[in-house]
Amino acid sequence: MTRLNIAIQKSGRMHDDCMVLLRDCGLRIETVSDQLKTSAGGFPLDILYLRNGDIPEYLQDGVADIAILGENTVIEKGSRVTGLLPLGFSKCRLSIAVPQKSGYEDLRFFEGKRIATSYPRTLAKYLRDKGVTAEIHQISGSVEIAPHIGLADGICDLVSSGNTLFQNKLEEKEVILHSQAWVYANNELDADKKALVDQLLFRIKATLEARKNKYILLNAPKASLDKIISILPGIKSPTILPLAIEGWCSVHSVIPEKEFWEVIDALKQAGAEGILVIPIEKMVS
Ligand code: AMP
Repeated sequence: MTRLNIAIQKSGRMHDDCMVLLRDCGLRIETVSDQLKTSAGGFPLDILYLRNGDIPEYLQDGVADIAILGENTVIEKGSRVTGLLPLGFSKCRLSIAVPQKSGYEDLRFFEGKRIATSYPRTLAKYLRDKGVTAEIHQISGSVEIAPHIGLADGICDLVSSGNTLFQNKLEEKEVILHSQAWVYANNELDADKKALVDQLLFRIKATLEARKNKYILLNAPKASLDKIISILPGIKSPTILPLAIEGWCSVHSVIPEKEFWEVIDALKQAGAEGILVIPIEKMVS
């Protein structure tokens, strides 16, 4: 029987989010530390735990069929792989930053100067496109300290909350790219593996969709029903059920997580009572 394998980070920022996602997709995965490969229950899938920087090459060479990777890594490595689905986590940006009060006005600041980064390829292309000639100093970690020890005039690094820049008295000046985790695939999967990938993507999409929404139940006086229905941004029309009390009904719908508080406030003002909000486990449209 055909089996698929997926490469994920062995450790690091994305590891936990990947494990939660795969488990939410119904895969039974044992946590065994120091293991390179495990087999999942509930789906014909093996999981390869690899170093982040090694995954693009294994994927391109077909050692892994699919992988969860940050876009930033795939772009930096110039990997020939196929992006299948953005996952909405591990969001960050690759930015250029300089020490506070360095008199930076635009990128020409770096003409003839030095930038420290772990992303030399992406940075070189950016500078080339902008017509700026600067020296790129490649370092593999703690990029943010480079300006303070006289190693560089600025840095190019991943920024998420911006705390690291702030703590190191650096200011973000240029955003080179925005990145998040994606499912990527090897470019030459056979038909059987592609069919398995489609099944897995179906599960992932249903899981991600469910995370973005909440199920809502409320009681409403029939007189306010039109108003309440107009407030609900549901997937189709809400379900309306009569209550035992005359003149009242129960309204069921699905609302997007990001509109949650605004919708709840508006519903209360429109006369809704006994509002229940329930997480959705899977959502298949
Ligand atoms: P922050 O302080 O939240 O802006 O995070 C910045 C630090 O975390 C830098 O050292 C980055 O290299 C690293 N970082 C931020 N986001 C990511 C990411 N998505 N993947 C890997 N490293 C990241």
